[in-house]
Amino acid sequence: MASLLTNCFIKIMTILTVLRFPDERLRTVAKPVTDFGPALQTQIDNMLETMYEAQGIGLAATQVNVHRQVIVIDLSEKKDAPLVLINPSFEVLDDEAFDYQEGCLSVPTFYDDVERPKQCKVKYLDYHGAEMTIDCDGLLATCIQHEMDHLNGIVFLDHLSRLKRDRVLKKIQKDAKAELVG
Ligand code: ZN
Repeated sequence: MASLLTNCFIKIMTILTVLRFPDERLRTVAKPVTDFGPALQTQIDNMLETMYEAQGIGLAATQVNVHRQVIVIDLSEKKDAPLVLINPSFEVLDDEAFDYQEGCLSVPTFYDDVERPKQCKVKYLDYHGAEMTIDCDGLLATCIQHEMDHLNGIVFLDHLSRLKRDRVLKKIQKDAKAELVG
């Protein structure tokens, strides 16, 4: 009886396709969310499910080809503390730099150090459309900036030298060819 009751509340989730660099659609600039209806919540639930499935710590709507300003993040060890940021904006609180070896679900298997401001204040709307402000630093600040870049059509490789970016691109193209042949 108890399990039947629990089942009634299980949401049907869908794993979304994550666009891979250098897909041009990753260059689209996302528009602000204006409709906070149930379709948005389904979209967010699916993004969370997709992020957890891929064992990522963050995902921007741009990466699943939805060009609205929505980000999901979960930095918790148990993956039970999702953070949903809608229409985020940020302000740098301290110019001190923070170096982190970043990765991205749109650029799998590639990691490199990116330097970003260490502390920032982020304003956003939450899952229910309520206005929120958080001061963040370290990994959370890096993660939010990485995902906000996606909403502006920027991937973390854009922060690296041209030489490094070209090297990644060549490797991706080579792997794609090998996949076709194989
Ligand atoms: Zn990314």
